[in-house]
Amino acid sequence: MLQDMHLHTNFSDGANTLQEMAEAAVDCGLHEICFTDHVRKESDWWPEYFTECQRVAQSFLPNLNISCGVEAKVCDFSGTLDLPLSIDRKILQVAAIHRLPIGNRQFLRKDLLRQNGSFAVTCWMNTLSGLNKNPSISRIAHPFSLLPYMDITLDESFWNQVVHIFDKGSYLIEYNTKYDNSFIPLSFWKHFSPRIIFGSDSHSVEDLQKSCHTTIPYGLT
Ligand SMILES: [Zn+2]
Ligand SMILES: [Zn+2]
Repeated sequence: MLQDMHLHTNFSDGANTLQEMAEAAVDCGLHEICFTDHVRKESDWWPEYFTECQRVAQSFLPNLNISCGVEAKVCDFSGTLDLPLSIDRKILQVAAIHRLPIGNRQFLRKDLLRQNGSFAVTCWMNTLSGLNKNPSISRIAHPFSLLPYMDITLDESFWNQVVHIFDKGSYLIEYNTKYDNSFIPLSFWKHFSPRIIFGSDSHSVEDLQKSCHTTIPYGLT
C-alpha cells in the first residue's frame, strides 16, 4: 500500500504520538496518511489534536502527505455522527457503523445482531442510506465490519442494494486491511474504484509496520 488513511494515535486509543506514526509511515514508504482518532460528543481534546496534526502535516511535506480526520460512530438513520458540537469543519469526518442504530438514538448490541435477523439487516441498510443525508461525511470506515455478526445472505440481491445506496453518495469508501474482506465481491471494489481508499486501522507503530507491507489483492493502488 502507498497510502494508509486510517491511523490512531495516543490522542484516542492508540499507543504512539502523531509524530511517531508519521515517522513510521515514512519508513514504510507510504506517500499519504490520514489520522482518524476516535471522537465522541464529549471529546474535548480535539482542538489540541487538530493543531498538532496540522503542525506534523506541515513538517512532513513534501515527502508525506498527511490529512487530519476523526472517526465517529453513526448514531441514526440520518447520518448523524457522534461528534463534538463545536468540531472544526476542516477536520475530515469519517463515519463508522461501530454499533447498529435502531432508531430513537438506541443501538443494538453486537451479540444481539444475529438473533434479531431481518430487523438488524433493515436497520443496517437504513443506517447506510442515512450517510447520504449528511454531506459533511467525507468517508466511511470499514463499512461492512458488522455484517459477519448478522444473519444475512450475502447474495447478489444484497450487494445490488448496497451498490445502489453507495452510488447515491459521494463520500469515499474504505478498504480496511484489519478486517476480513473475503466476503466482499471484487466487483464491489472495482465498481467504486475511484472512491476507494485504503486504511489499516493501526493503533501503534508496530501495527503500522506490520500492515504497510500488506498487498491489496485488487491492483487498485
Ligand atoms: Zn472503527
Ligand atoms: Zn479506527
